[in-house]
Amino acid sequence: MNTNDLLKKDCFTTEEIVYLLGANGNDKTLLFESAARCQAENVQNKVYLRGLIEFTNCCSKNCLYCGIRSNNRQVKRYTMTDKEIMDAVRFAWESRYGSVVLQSGELISDGFTRRVEKLLRKIERLSDGKLRVTLSCGEQSYDTYRRWFENGASRYLLRIESSNPELYKKLHPDNQHHRFETRMKCLEYLKKAGYQVGTGVMIGLPFQTMEDLAHDLLFMKQIDVDMVGMGPYLEHLDTPLYACRHQLLSKENRFQLALKMIAVLRLLMKDINIAATTALQAIDPMGREKALKVGANIIMPNITPGRYQDFYTLYENMPCTAEDNEDYMASLEALITLAGHETAYGEWGDSEHYRRRDKGQGTRKKDLTESVRPVSVWLSTKKIKGATVNGKQ
Ligand code: SF4
Repeated sequence: MNTNDLLKKDCFTTEEIVYLLGANGNDKTLLFESAARCQAENVQNKVYLRGLIEFTNCCSKNCLYCGIRSNNRQVKRYTMTDKEIMDAVRFAWESRYGSVVLQSGELISDGFTRRVEKLLRKIERLSDGKLRVTLSCGEQSYDTYRRWFENGASRYLLRIESSNPELYKKLHPDNQHHRFETRMKCLEYLKKAGYQVGTGVMIGLPFQTMEDLAHDLLFMKQIDVDMVGMGPYLEHLDTPLYACRHQLLSKENRFQLALKMIAVLRLLMKDINIAATTALQAIDPMGREKALKVGANIIMPNITPGRYQDFYTLYENMPCTAEDNEDYMASLEALITLAGHETAYGEWGDSEHYRRRDKGQGTRKKDLTESVRPVSVWLSTKKIKGATVNGKQ
């Protein structure tokens, strides 16, 4: 294949993506330059900030790769109080972040649903509705997603981790709480509820092939996501998947593969938001800056109080940051400037992709039934039948 010719295309086949993911030397440079141009043309040079608040590390699930899985007794569990959460939100608001992300393990109960609702209303009052809220609280029922949306959440992150159902099975216990079909159904619910929907995958997993990764990117395009957060898989000692660590690529190779995934995704989905994730930073201190140069346009400074950050360890060596201090903010701004971008203070940074689609389909509150179709199409191509979440269709 000729890389120059390939990079002029708007869409790629699986084989072409596999070729680009294997690019090295001059071909890799061409790929990265092409992604940077695409980024400048379609999402400008702004980098948007999302203040990340990991408000509890309690989780009912047991994903085989995750450091805070419920069976890991080594983890000290915590739940932030409403006051602690609102102090972090206030910090983000006063620092002109534009958005916060409330992230937790997966907890399903009426009490949890009501608590998140209450927090959303408090955030709305604090900022007079001017602070965007993203939720990342796992699989929930459609009713729960809808209630949270109606109380002020406008974006939701739910990573598919792998779009290959067979690989997904290898990453999760084989029981009704960890079904690929349920994850897919939840992505469908989120679109139907009206959210800007984000997903993502781990890159460099054991058992994962280049074709799997190519399909992951095509999957994101097919279900028409608005945001993506993906990064290298990093093993955690206290997880079952750690036993497969000998199969892994070197960390540097996983890192390079993640950068190429970001670059190809930018070319495939020109106007979505793509996060420069902390997993990149865990391998390379300049990892996030490098991602910003090849297509990423979102940074999520962790504003969880420092005393809790040690306990939200999804993987080993997860960067713990004191991101609520001025020195950190100055260094973050310098990092963004070094990458040739501008820090977009006080801006929501909604995905252009969502804005364009929303213009065509109506307001935020509208039931986006039309946009649900791509998920259903993917389900049918994978011969997956409808799933239930919390007993509800
Ligand atoms: S990946 Fe998410 S749902 Fe799975 S165990 Fe970790 S926090 Fe829980």
